Amino acid sequence: MIRLDKSLLSGRQCGPCTACCIDLKIADPELKKAARVPCPHLGAKGCGIYDKRPGVCREFLCGWRLFDDMTDDWRPDLSGVLVMRRAPSEMPAAWKAAPYGMHMVILGGEAAVLRPAFIAYAARTMARGIPIFLSAASPYIVLNDHVPPGADTAVLKTRLAELYPMLHAARFGQNLWQRIRFLYRLQIDRGYQKYHMKSAG
Ligand code: SF4
Ligand code: SF4
Repeated sequence: MIRLDKSLLSGRQCGPCTACCIDLKIADPELKKAARVPCPHLGAKGCGIYDKRPGVCREFLCGWRLFDDMTDDWRPDLSGVLVMRRAPSEMPAAWKAAPYGMHMVILGGEAAVLRPAFIAYAARTMARGIPIFLSAASPYIVLNDHVPPGADTAVLKTRLAELYPMLHAARFGQNLWQRIRFLYRLQIDRGYQKYHMKSAG
C-alpha cells in the first residue's frame, strides 16, 4: 500500500544526492534561485549552511523520500528522475479528484525515461488513476493524456520514446520558435490520443 501522507520515510537519506539544490526553482523570502542553477550555498560536500538552511529546504521532501513503492535506485541522482508529490490543489481541474499527482522532472535524458523500472512504475501509477506530470527542463505534459488507457509497458515505452524528444526540443532556453513548434506538436499529440481514447470508449 502506497503512503499518501506527506511524511518522511524512515531510513531514507539524501546521501550524495543534491538534485533539488540544483534543479528546482526556489522562490522564498529566505532563498531565491533559478531552476537548473546550483544553489550558492551548495559546496562539494553538500549544503554549506545545513544547520541554518532555510525552512523551505527543511520542509522539502522529494517523492523518493515519500513513496515507499519507489526502490532505492529511484534516488534522483541514480535514476535521473526527480519526483515531487502534487496535492490536488496544485493540479489542473481535470485531475482534482485524484488523491495526488506525481511531477516527474527528467534530469537524466532519454535513458532515464526508457529505463525499465521507470516504465513499469509509470504504467502502474497511471493504471491507479494517478496523473504523471512529465517535464524535461520544459513545460510539463500530463503523460496520462498521451497514452491509451491500460497501455502495457511495451506501448508506454514506444510512447515515451516518441514524447521525450519533443519535450527535450521544447526545453527552456531553446530557440523560441523551436520551442513553440514542439509544444504545438505535443498539443497535437494529446488531441490525437484523446480523440482515439474517445472513439475506443
Ligand atoms: S532530490 Fe530528494 S534525495 Fe535528492 S537531495 Fe533533494 S530531497 Fe534529498
Ligand atoms: S540552502 Fe542548502 S539545502 Fe537549501 S537549496 Fe541551498 S544547498 Fe540546498
